[in-house]
Amino acid sequence: MISGRLRDTKLIVNLGAIRHNIQEQQKQLAPNSKIFAVVKANAYGNGLVPVAQTAIGAGAAGTCVAILDEALELRDNGITKLILVLGITPVENAHVAAEAGVSLTVGSLDWLEDYHQLAIANHWTKPLKVHLGIDSGMGRIGFTTVENFNEAVEFVREHREFEFEGMFTHFATADSADESYFNKQVNRWEQFVNSLNELPPFVHMANSATGMWHQEKITANTVRMGISMYGQNPSGRELAATLDLKPVEQLVTSISFVKKLKAGESVSYGATYTA
Ligand SMILES: *Cc1c(COP(=O)(O)O)cnc(C)c1O
Repeated sequence: MISGRLRDTKLIVNLGAIRHNIQEQQKQLAPNSKIFAVVKANAYGNGLVPVAQTAIGAGAAGTCVAILDEALELRDNGITKLILVLGITPVENAHVAAEAGVSLTVGSLDWLEDYHQLAIANHWTKPLKVHLGIDSGMGRIGFTTVENFNEAVEFVREHREFEFEGMFTHFATADSADESYFNKQVNRWEQFVNSLNELPPFVHMANSATGMWHQEKITANTVRMGISMYGQNPSGRELAATLDLKPVEQLVTSISFVKKLKAGESVSYGATYTA
């Protein structure tokens, strides 16, 4: 990608504001709660590596990315803390994550069985850290029944090419004033949590909106902080922010051309504006 360095339009990213926003969230959480900084999609456009470094400097326990390539870019740039890939990684590429110590989201027993077969055939011995995703109502990645989830947990625990590092879910409506669907998801999530007698080290349910408006309902020890870390209110204007967020992004430019039109003259493609 080519950056336009020779024009006077700039996106200014205030890394100090990222630090501030993380500390604001941390203050509101239970004392031993941790934060994962969500830096997928080039840190929401703000620059993957500098944002990840800043978040970790501010105390984040780890980072979350969308795809394995982003995780490797962080490792190549010296980020040694936990990195979780939130999307599903093709099973034939997953050993790359194991070698780099990158954690992967897993949402089915099939995926675990396929990895197990490949690990035996290829003598992959380095344990792969997995976070089991739970679909409590988002309707995307994850286990939908407690029985299937428990089978997967057992499979992970019985095979030494896996390390059971985390479990998580994701909310569809945590930024909405109507809490009924959110509460349904919380109840569903709690059934999964309560089905285990021993929890993995990282249990995470909260996105930005949950960390902001539902702190009292968090049955987990880690918050995945995305949009609020960048200083934005996840609900737009529906709910007032409960954290003192500082905006991270500033877009500055200058007017490049000014002209006068005569009545009847038109502007641009399709001549949709006529003076
Ligand atoms: C993107 C993402 C987040 C962060 O969401 P925000 O609303 O930006 O806080 C958290 N968890 C998962 C699984 C995501 O995909």
